[in-house]
Amino acid sequence: MSSLFPALSPAPTGAPADRPALRFGERSLTYAELAAAAGATAGRIGGAGRVAVWATPAMETAVAVVAALLAGVAAVPLNPKSGDKELAHILSDSAPSLVLAPPGAQLPSALGTLERVDVDVRARAAVAEDRAGEGDPALVVYTSGTTGPPKGAVLPRRALAATLDALADAWRWTGDDVLVQGLPLFHVHGLVLGILGPLRRGGSVRHLGRFSTDGVARELNDGATMLFGVPTMYHRIAETLPADPELVQALSGARLLVSGSAALPVHDHERIAAATGRRVIERYGMTETLMLCSSRWTPPDPRPGVRADGEPRAGTVGVPLPGVELRLVEEDGTPIAALDGESVGEIQVRGPNLFTEYLNRPDATAAAFTEDGFFRTGDMAVRDPDGHVRIVGRKATDLIKSGGYKIGAGEIENALLEHPAVREAAVTGEPDPDLGERIVAWIVPADPAAPPALDTLADHVAGRLAPHKRPRVVRHLEALPRNDMGKIMKRALDHG
Ligand code: ATP
Ligand code: MG
Repeated sequence: MSSLFPALSPAPTGAPADRPALRFGERSLTYAELAAAAGATAGRIGGAGRVAVWATPAMETAVAVVAALLAGVAAVPLNPKSGDKELAHILSDSAPSLVLAPPGAQLPSALGTLERVDVDVRARAAVAEDRAGEGDPALVVYTSGTTGPPKGAVLPRRALAATLDALADAWRWTGDDVLVQGLPLFHVHGLVLGILGPLRRGGSVRHLGRFSTDGVARELNDGATMLFGVPTMYHRIAETLPADPELVQALSGARLLVSGSAALPVHDHERIAAATGRRVIERYGMTETLMLCSSRWTPPDPRPGVRADGEPRAGTVGVPLPGVELRLVEEDGTPIAALDGESVGEIQVRGPNLFTEYLNRPDATAAAFTEDGFFRTGDMAVRDPDGHVRIVGRKATDLIKSGGYKIGAGEIENALLEHPAVREAAVTGEPDPDLGERIVAWIVPADPAAPPALDTLADHVAGRLAPHKRPRVVRHLEALPRNDMGKIMKRALDHG
């Protein structure tokens, strides 16, 4: 197979030797330096079966993963904030032969006697030839654990190449782009899209270490062209914009603002558009499938009054990416052909971007695929008349069956977030003797001293959506339970 990172080859094939590849805070590496540093680490791990990577948001993590890919060894990124129990599970499940870590990083006892190899980003050695085949495993990435214990998705090299090239197509992503991001590096969003993506294109990435709106403003005002983030980051941006002209300038000038990993609330999308004139592109994907859909994007048309065709729209994740086959199916497996914005079905997908299996889980792997090779995402959606996919929520936690209707939690959450007394909202169903399930609104009030009453919220929702979508119960909380990607952990909401 051709290399995953042609840009790392020496010129004239590769990127110019002195082009910036990675920057983390004050530290940066050019393409020539990255190739040499990754080459040195690759030389130390060649022949290993699988290697774990202590995935702090630091230069060493990026170098370690590139080194593993050059050596043809599968990398297992570890979340440094995992508890001992989760780490022990991931280590016994993935059985790495060593762990790559930044020099000086304190590793917890759960890593036990695992051999440790320090990643020296200043080491220099010739790049190993990247010989692995396209079906060989590149990464084993554990899912976010939003709906159950994390599962290790085995991602072949083919899937990485396919997803990154499809995104390049959809977003006109090139080696001239400079990405700024502050995402964790142990999930596909921050690692595959946010590090390997720029490197495959021959462009640059500046990682903030820790996300901040100041960091985003600084980098976008200093040459960065795109921003990748999760909805909680765009929420902070939306909150900060009114009082921060530098941030307004930064977002207004960016080429591309992309959100993913969870639904971007319509309220935040609209506030950002109002303050900056820019629409955040929403994309949808999963650990198992990498990227599936993205809002259509065409560069803003400079002529006054001319709307860019197919501009990103709030509340949809756009259309399937090139190479992705996507269908909606009813519970009995019947495909839904209607583009009516109403018929809800499970999203099933097929394409070169998919994982090959859940590690050590042949049962779960078999259950996840249909007979004709489509992956069951567990996400429910409708399709609008123009083909745009609108995610309703997850089958397991976001689809409420009430009074004979199937109701998606997402649109009710979006409606609740538009109420000024609501800071955060999550909607679930709980058993009800008359309705089957009743709609419960979990609310973090904007003012803890004045939490909004059920009637107020029910009227607000009924005024925007159909009356049967109004909440029947409200529960006030100080904060919603969220995981490290900012995703709401609905299984942790206590139905008492
Ligand atoms: P687990 O599978 O362990 O329960 P998880 O599904 O959250 O955790 P990921 O693979 O990181 O783990 O997340 C994929 C899921 O995130 C998708 O199935 C979908 O539910 C959600 N998601 C991702 N992007 C979007 C988006 N743009 N809009 C709505 N949901 C999204
Ligand atoms: Mg999942």
